[in-house]
Amino acid sequence: MTDHAISDSAFAAFLKQGQLQGSRCAACDAVFVPPRGMCPQCHKADMQWTPMSGTGRLLAFTCIAIGPPWMAARGYDREHPYCSAVIELDEGPRVVARIEGVDTNRPENIRIGMQLVLHQDANAAGDDAPACPIFTPSLYSAD
Ligand SMILES: [Zn+2]
Repeated sequence: MTDHAISDSAFAAFLKQGQLQGSRCAACDAVFVPPRGMCPQCHKADMQWTPMSGTGRLLAFTCIAIGPPWMAARGYDREHPYCSAVIELDEGPRVVARIEGVDTNRPENIRIGMQLVLHQDANAAGDDAPACPIFTPSLYSAD
């Protein structure tokens, strides 16, 4: 599976299988999610797929009531906003993702630092939508 070339389409294919994959630079060990074909830190192109555990914590978020057409087609609107977030993965990289399982009509209840886990739904990403990881609050979160 990790024989695939580093690409956005391979990243999306992994996501559809419920796997969050990044790329690791063989030269400097930096990790990027979504994966990059060339390391932005040392500019080498020796990148390898590296699986992420799919756990992390919430760094920042916003609730979006007027989204792009592919989100409106999924029923997100002023009554049902969706939550877009930046998550710091346990491995370190930060990833833009969507959070489900939170009350987007009461964003004051969504807490920075909350523990999140990857919850990829195979139906979540249609061909018209960019690949986007989906997280939910961890059931085992201490907070
Ligand atoms: Zn590097």
